[in-house]
Amino acid sequence: MEKEENYGKIRRIAGPLVEAHGMWGRKMYEVVKVGDLGLIGEIIKIIGDVASIQVYEDTSGLTPGERVEGTGHSLSVELGPGVLKSIYDGIQRPLELIKEKSGDFIARGINVPPIDKQKVWDFVTKVKEGDAVGEGDIIGEVQETDLIVNKIMIPVGIVGNIENIHNGKHRVEDVVCNVRDKNNRLHGVKMMQIWPVREPRPYVRKLPPEIPLKTGQRIFDTAFPIAKGGTAAIPGPFGSGKTVSQHQLAKWCDAEVIVYVGCGERGNEMTEVLEEFPHLVDPYSGKPLMERTTMIANTSNMPVAAREASVYTGVTLAEYYRDMGYNTAMMADSTSRWAEAMREISGRLEEMPGEEGYPAYLASKVAAFYERAGMVEILGKDGGKKNRISSVSLIGAVSPPGGDFSEPVTQNTLRVTRVFWALDAQLAHRRHFPSINWMTSYSLYEKLPDWFNNNVNKKWVANRKIAMELMHKEAELQEIVQLVGKDALAEKEKMILEITRLIREAVLQQNAFDDVDSYCPLQKQYDMLYIILRLYNKLGECVARGKTIEEISREVDGLADIMTSRIARLKYSPLKEECGEGGRLKGKTKDKILGMIKDGSLKYFDEAYNDIMAVVDKIK
Ligand code: ADP
Repeated sequence: MEKEENYGKIRRIAGPLVEAHGMWGRKMYEVVKVGDLGLIGEIIKIIGDVASIQVYEDTSGLTPGERVEGTGHSLSVELGPGVLKSIYDGIQRPLELIKEKSGDFIARGINVPPIDKQKVWDFVTKVKEGDAVGEGDIIGEVQETDLIVNKIMIPVGIVGNIENIHNGKHRVEDVVCNVRDKNNRLHGVKMMQIWPVREPRPYVRKLPPEIPLKTGQRIFDTAFPIAKGGTAAIPGPFGSGKTVSQHQLAKWCDAEVIVYVGCGERGNEMTEVLEEFPHLVDPYSGKPLMERTTMIANTSNMPVAAREASVYTGVTLAEYYRDMGYNTAMMADSTSRWAEAMREISGRLEEMPGEEGYPAYLASKVAAFYERAGMVEILGKDGGKKNRISSVSLIGAVSPPGGDFSEPVTQNTLRVTRVFWALDAQLAHRRHFPSINWMTSYSLYEKLPDWFNNNVNKKWVANRKIAMELMHKEAELQEIVQLVGKDALAEKEKMILEITRLIREAVLQQNAFDDVDSYCPLQKQYDMLYIILRLYNKLGECVARGKTIEEISREVDGLADIMTSRIARLKYSPLKEECGEGGRLKGKTKDKILGMIKDGSLKYFDEAYNDIMAVVDKIK
């Protein structure tokens, strides 16, 4: 009889939303098991004994009167070795294992643990008996994948002294160490922790974002840089290059661990990512990118509520690796699907709709999500090392319907993210990739210019400014050209159009699929812009003295050649160190590039650069 009272009963079902009564004692955000199948749901509203539950599985076939059982805990993820290389759904169920168990369509009420509980890991201790330990301290290490060492931490809430610790082979749920606290209580520490996804994992303090997240993409690093621990929004209509951009960021950005959250528009769109992503190669190691990635995938045939949870699941996994000391980056593609899930649930709760039917709390939810990014001092120490710093960077794609950036999700995202990379369908149409619009994009990280000036070249910021001013000038001139034709322009203006064409072709365009151009080191980014600006200055002086570009071209041997093709081709030339031992280019790619250098069809960057510079310097 007593047990019966722990159950509520379904009273109403509306899509992913279930209302149950008799839910005495249940808490907000508690996970419940709904119906005879035990579908997973989360309480999102309680009035008296009536709870509204968003259900993370398909509710068809559910009937009023079926029971609803509380679990006592909130929606949580399992954190431990085994998270990397996994592909999860929005509530951290491993898709591969589910597929093995139930086929392509996820059977409902299925229960598969997020991390393998049977797998045995080699645990290497980093502390010894008697050592004082606190929250976040690293007590041991496990080689989680070929690329990442999982650092086993003392969970939040435990402080004391190590009573015993066991080197050797363990499963994630084994107690690897016991800690006695000052009240003489003994805590068993396992390799696995559980953490509620809606609660940010704690850290000591947030630090100002002053270091760039290097991406090797010129339009990002040179024009609109993002900081480590920063936030960026990348809105764009279908086909404008969101996925390629996110993949490039995942591959090249200098974060050690990547969390990729995909909320697909249509089922097949996500399937593409699911098929593609596991084949991406980590360019730094030549190993699969999945070795340092965890992926969350929602296809459209999964219920909307799971999409709502997926961004929280993702960011919690990112915070977990941050807490070990890794710089982590999460890409969410696309956050619009998450917002739409919120809208659907809110509609079914019959809440007062805000703009375009989105709930009034859309803004605060979006803000709270991006708030979890940051460069932080993390808890705990690692081998005596304190004050450790690491970061979570958040990059959210947005897919505004019809490419209209004034819609609520884009606007609310732009309010909180500090970088805006605006993808532009027209540029994509003209095959200008990455099709980031340089007129509307921006980066608000004020400290980053100093970093570039101090670490790459003291003229970095000045040159970038000149280049961007020229690009804005180009836009004005293009309007005139369209109205009255190119002949109406003064010679200086024609010259500017030649220079901005070079900036577009050589600097702003970057081919993600070229072995060399896919990644551009910062020094090379600087040099490529510098050579164009030097050409600009030299031509400017001559034009000011009354010469035309044509005249200068006739006088200076090789000038026409560098302006039509050689400067733009500079990006395909690798640096020597990229090909050398331990360089970036590996295996067959490296052989191919070295072959081209040998047969003369390609030069090393330095040589190509010097050749071009020699021509530029002939302009008098
Ligand atoms: P979206 O995700 O916005 O629908 P995609 O990322 O799939 O668009 O890009 C569409 C196509 O544009 C790609 O298949 C590719 O051919 C081209 N593309 C996008 N970005 C680049 C790039 N940086 N370099 C080369 N091609 C690109």
